[in-house]
Amino acid sequence: MSGRAQLMWDEAVTGYDFGPGHPMDPVRLALTMRLVEAYELDRGPLEVVAAKPAGDSTLRLVHREDYIEAVRRASADPGSADGAYGLGTPDDPAFAGMHEASALIAGQSVGAAEAVWHGDVLHAVNFAGGLHHAMPGGASGFCIYNDAALAVARLLELGAERVAYVDVDVHHGDGVQAAFWEDPRVLTISLHEHPRTLFPQTGWPEETGGEGAEGSAVNVALPAGTGDAGWLRAFHSVVPELLAAFRPQALVTQHGADTHFEDPLAHLAVSLDAQRAVAESCHALAHEHADGRWIALGGGGYEVVDVVPRSWTHLTAIAAGRPIDPTSMVPPAWRHEVFRRTRQLAPQRMTDGRTPSWRDFAEGGYDPADRLDQAVLATRRAVFPAHGLLP
Ligand SMILES: [Zn+2]
Repeated sequence: MSGRAQLMWDEAVTGYDFGPGHPMDPVRLALTMRLVEAYELDRGPLEVVAAKPAGDSTLRLVHREDYIEAVRRASADPGSADGAYGLGTPDDPAFAGMHEASALIAGQSVGAAEAVWHGDVLHAVNFAGGLHHAMPGGASGFCIYNDAALAVARLLELGAERVAYVDVDVHHGDGVQAAFWEDPRVLTISLHEHPRTLFPQTGWPEETGGEGAEGSAVNVALPAGTGDAGWLRAFHSVVPELLAAFRPQALVTQHGADTHFEDPLAHLAVSLDAQRAVAESCHALAHEHADGRWIALGGGGYEVVDVVPRSWTHLTAIAAGRPIDPTSMVPPAWRHEVFRRTRQLAPQRMTDGRTPSWRDFAEGGYDPADRLDQAVLATRRAVFPAHGLLP
C-alpha cells in the first residue's frame, strides 16, 4: 500500500506562462512547491508524482476537437492565435508551448483522479490545476484546458456514479458547471463573489442545472467585502447538507486563493486562516461523505508571494495528514528563496493572525435583513428542495 496522499508535480507546469505583466505568474507555483519542500512534506508524508500530459482522447472528454486543434496551432505559432476560441486575447495570450503546458497541468489532475479512484492513495493534490473557466470550446479567464472538469470526467469514465465538485475560488466555476450542466451524476457547488461585481458575471443562485439535472448546479453569490465569518457561514450553511444528501463517491475541490483580502483582482476579505479552515473542512467532508476520496486543486490567486504559497502549502499539508501549525515561523530558507526570485519580503508566519469562527444556519437560524444571509438563503431556496432538503 502506497502513501495515503500524493502531490502531483512536474516542474514543467511552471511553463504555463502568459508572459510578463500577466497576473497569473508561474512563480506562484514554484514558490508553493519550494515551501512544501521547506516543510519537508515531500520526505515521507507525501509521495510526489509527475503524471503524463493529458492526451487528445482525454482532453476530448470535455473539450471539442476543433478547439484542441486551435490551441495546438496557437501553441506552435502564437501569432496565428484565433480570437474566436478566446486565444490571443489579453486574458489568454498565446505562447509557444501553450498546448503542452496546459495538457501537462490537465494530466496532473487526471492522474490525481485516477490514483484516488484506483485506491493507490486516499487524497491527491494538484495545486497547479483548478483552471475552472476553460469552456468545452474556448479559453477563458487565464484557463486553456479545464483540468478540474477533466478530473471529474475521468472519474465518470472510470465508473463513478456520483461526483461532487466544490469550488471556493473567488470567481464562479463556470467552465465546470457548463461541462456537467445536464449531467445529474455531477453536483457542482461554487461559492464566489457576486456576478454583479466580478468576472465571469455568472453564478447566480438561479443557475441550478439543465433538464434532467435540476439541482445539480449550486451557486452562492457572496456580497463584495464578505470576510471570514460570512464566508465560512456560507460554506457551512450550504455544502455539508448537500454532500450528505448527494452521497458522492469522490470529492473534487478547487481552492483558488483569490478570496484573500490582499488579492488584487477581486473584492472579498477572507484571510489565510479561513482558507486553511475551509481546506480542513473539505478534507473532513471527503471522509464523511466520499469514503475519503479527495482530489484537491489550486485555482486563482494573484498575490503570488504573500498568499498563494502559504495557502496551498496548508492545503497540501492537510491532505498529507501533517497539518502545519498556523503560528509556526516560515522556514528561513524559503524566505531567502522568495527574496532571491522576487526581491520581495516573504511573510514570516503561516498565519494572518486571525482565528476564524462562524455560526451556520443550523444553529440560531438566519437574519433576513443581512445581505450574506440573503445570499445563502437564495441558494438554499433554489436548490435544497431538489435534494429533498428544507431551505
Ligand atoms: Zn479566481
